Amino acid sequence: MSAESPNSHAGVAEGEGGGSRRALLVTGRVKRRLERESLRHHPKPTLVGIVDFLAKAVWVTPVVALLLATSLAFDRFNEGAWSGEIAWAFALGVGVALPSLGVALVVRLLRAGTRSARSSWQGNVNTMLYALAMRRQETIEERNAFYSSSEWRQMRQEVIAEDGANCNGCGRQIAEAIDVTVDHRRPRSRYPELALERSNLQVLCRACNSRKGARDEFASP
Ligand SMILES: [Zn+2]
Repeated sequence: MSAESPNSHAGVAEGEGGGSRRALLVTGRVKRRLERESLRHHPKPTLVGIVDFLAKAVWVTPVVALLLATSLAFDRFNEGAWSGEIAWAFALGVGVALPSLGVALVVRLLRAGTRSARSSWQGNVNTMLYALAMRRQETIEERNAFYSSSEWRQMRQEVIAEDGANCNGCGRQIAEAIDVTVDHRRPRSRYPELALERSNLQVLCRACNSRKGARDEFASP
């Protein structure tokens, strides 16, 4: 992995170790998953959550009131009765919109108050997110190193030569060489000591390996 800005690909902020310049393979989907995981470990403080909600909700009221007032005014105008009613239509708009703006102002002040809570929380989430992204990156690099090692390639050939091209999962004969995979019965992530253990290896077709891989997180090539 070459050294590029960690922000270039997916916008993951640099963690506390600001000097690190590793590229992180974090796509949007993975980033969202990592963010959900970070949020589980660092739930948003309640006050920040409430103020965030109010800040969003408070703009709905004046917008709806203005829409209502406009539509009422338009109706009256079409009926040719655009005198008394239009006044109260606008009064409704202003009467609802102005207090809402007042509430919006209060929410803004509250937000300023929760800013420090928010920034420390955001800092925690960013650090966590960065740590998770780094861990994922290391897993990918370790995986690439393992599967391209000569030890693995040799072991893989041996297993295929001994077991033939029958899938140990579904039993069917695997026609295409590209569909032959050598699987770790006990996953490498949890049993690294069994990574090159012959008895832990079996031939699987790509479909069976993917199904199993979905449980074990990483399938063998
Ligand atoms: Zn199979």
